[in-house]
Amino acid sequence: MKMSQIGEGYNLISLECASATLPSCSWSKILWHPIQTPKHSLLRWQAMLNKLPSRDRLLAQGMAMPNLCGLCNLERELAGHLFIQCSYSSYVWSALFKCLGLRRQQHSSIEDHLGWFVKLAKTDSERKVMYAILSQTIWSLWIKRNARVFQHKATSKFHIVKHILQATKSKLRGCLFDDVDSPLTGRLVEVFGVCYKESQKLSIPVIWIPPPNGWFKANSDGSLSDDRYGFGALLQTHSGECIQALSACVRACSINILELKGVVAGVTLAQSSKASHVWSETDSTTVVAWSQGRGIIPRSAQGGCCGRYFGSKF
Ligand SMILES: [Zn+2]
Repeated sequence: MKMSQIGEGYNLISLECASATLPSCSWSKILWHPIQTPKHSLLRWQAMLNKLPSRDRLLAQGMAMPNLCGLCNLERELAGHLFIQCSYSSYVWSALFKCLGLRRQQHSSIEDHLGWFVKLAKTDSERKVMYAILSQTIWSLWIKRNARVFQHKATSKFHIVKHILQATKSKLRGCLFDDVDSPLTGRLVEVFGVCYKESQKLSIPVIWIPPPNGWFKANSDGSLSDDRYGFGALLQTHSGECIQALSACVRACSINILELKGVVAGVTLAQSSKASHVWSETDSTTVVAWSQGRGIIPRSAQGGCCGRYFGSKF
């Protein structure tokens, strides 16, 4: 075949494809989002097209084997059953939903289930996490099924849920969330330890300058590292004498919220010491802006502490 003929053929195919009305696919975005590992996406694609080598399909192709589900050993092993309706899979999905503070709905097809799950997310950040959870869960159930069928290995349901949460958490490492007023965002940040986008803190250098005679100074700071969040505050007299100190571990939140909690803790220490004149000092430009009425304080600033407070009086 001459090169000119190949070129003409390519142009003909391209023109035909361009003019053809291709059916829109509602789940293509869910399937191929880059947060997902390609092999996970491929597995889900096969499952949604009913192309997985499940026992039901292999039997239809003439292979001799039992037709019962590799996970529960009770029902026919169809893809819809394996990933959605099976009692084992149902337990896993329900446990994950409970962990995310969501109530599960029953669906008969994988497509309906995935579509509904993703619709619970209202922001791009939430959608990204939902894609990651979906992808990891379907993959883990398939791996678990294969281990049972081919190696006769049994793993507890609790273990697989824990594994899905841990694998999703490592996949989301480095992702930043929009700090929006959404209970789901708050829960996802807490469960997977991701940071809010405003985590890039703008700091100002702080040098300790004594307050005027008779005044107190409350210095504070917030800190986050991996999935540990905390803040602290220190109350001192004008001569530098420490009066009270406090530190606390809290639920997952942004660094600016931690800085704000630190400032509030400093003021609380001053109140409990009956200090009438207090100079509060922070190195967060965002918190300074909030105190001056600039910018909107996120709703997540209103959360309570889940950890322990450590306080000292000097
Ligand atoms: Zn089953």
